[in-house]
Amino acid sequence: MASEKKRAGARADDTPADLNIPDNYVQHTLKTVKPLPPFQWENMRDDLNWLNVAILCVTPFLGLLGAYFTKLRWETFLFSIFYYFYTGLGITAGYHRLWAHRSYNASLPLQYFLAIAGAGAVEGSIKWWSRGHRAHHRYTDTDLDPYNAHKGFFYSHIGWMLLKPRRKPGVADVSDLSKNPVVRWQHKHYIPMILIVSFVIPTVIPWLLWNDARGGYVYAGVLRLCFVHHSTFCVNSLAHWLGETPFDDKHTPRDHFATALVTIGEGYHNFHHQFPMDYRNAIKWYQYDPTKWFIRACQKLGLASHLKVFPENEVRKGQLTMELKKLKETQERLAWPTNSDDLPVISWESYQEQATKRPLILISGFIHDVSSFIDEHPGGPHLLVKMIGKDATTAFFGGVYDHSNAAHNLLAMKRVGVLHGGMRQGLEDKSIPPSQRLKIARYNELSSPYGSSTAYSDGEGMLS
Ligand SMILES: [Zn+2]
Ligand SMILES: [Zn+2]
Repeated sequence: MASEKKRAGARADDTPADLNIPDNYVQHTLKTVKPLPPFQWENMRDDLNWLNVAILCVTPFLGLLGAYFTKLRWETFLFSIFYYFYTGLGITAGYHRLWAHRSYNASLPLQYFLAIAGAGAVEGSIKWWSRGHRAHHRYTDTDLDPYNAHKGFFYSHIGWMLLKPRRKPGVADVSDLSKNPVVRWQHKHYIPMILIVSFVIPTVIPWLLWNDARGGYVYAGVLRLCFVHHSTFCVNSLAHWLGETPFDDKHTPRDHFATALVTIGEGYHNFHHQFPMDYRNAIKWYQYDPTKWFIRACQKLGLASHLKVFPENEVRKGQLTMELKKLKETQERLAWPTNSDDLPVISWESYQEQATKRPLILISGFIHDVSSFIDEHPGGPHLLVKMIGKDATTAFFGGVYDHSNAAHNLLAMKRVGVLHGGMRQGLEDKSIPPSQRLKIARYNELSSPYGSSTAYSDGEGMLS
């Protein structure tokens, strides 16, 4: 009976948790599963997660108190920094990039090394942490994301741990981790491991090597733990709040050097959310990503393999999309010539007649009112006055002077009409100002008429 139960349990563990979820799982869950009411101080006895409150509040308090009464020796200081990186890498290179994202393969010795290091960061077992993190990526910025950045900086940094969750995180499969012997081993021995790795080892090493047990406990143990906590918590808060979105701006993740600095290289979070299977966070050699450097060093030592890298071509596409988006915003802030569809079509006779009343000049099939420009024309007003009521296309494009792109752009701003039948084949370059030859348009605007390019086809239509 017991073994039957065990087998059933093992089967359930092997089955992906998200295998049988409905197609509309996200909307359906958000709509039908009601969250707990928001936190209230009156209900704090029930609403707070007291174990986490104790861990996250007592640690900094003890650390500061200890530091006040304990002299910091330089050996202990250096050891604390080393131990900060060791336990921090357990989270970044281990929990995050290896187990939560499977962005590379690690040999057994490296897996044990990282599982032990990660335990020293006291952030839950690999399995628990990865389950939450996979939900964070899958349901980013929704209520199914356990550290939803839309709930504010404090909530995504630490609030989500201090409170009992208001709803269960969205389903995320960790059946691969349930099968992993190192993950299971860490999960089973988690409590003694955190005590040994986080407090005993950093006390014993300084004690044995330079006789500073107390300093080791305070600085390399307690205070170091506090730094590791807030360093990795910044990935959920700061990295969703500060910086640029060079790859995609659909969600909150951002790239910033400062975040990278305090998170052992996890600060290029916009890239990371776009390409989570990539073992890198920073893709440029000069960007600060010690976790990437560590993984690469492990590969050189033969401890890591199959480092996953997203195709460069697709990464560039993301960047280009964002660059185009910014350029389009710039484009939209500028004033452009009147759309040729919105200009009146004027016959040659009407043009002649109207040109007697105001200074109109025909160039490349467009009629321009140059009244505001006659006195400012760099070549002198006489050259413009001479062309009123005439076709100045040849003179404008090199016959008298080969005008600059800027002059052509400015000319297009003075359009007041289109000459009936005035568009001739081969004049495309002359009828589209240089500034509009590479216009950025949304895909659904491409087939619709816009800009001067249609003046040409309209003209052609009228000719036939
Ligand atoms: Zn994130
Ligand atoms: Zn991640």
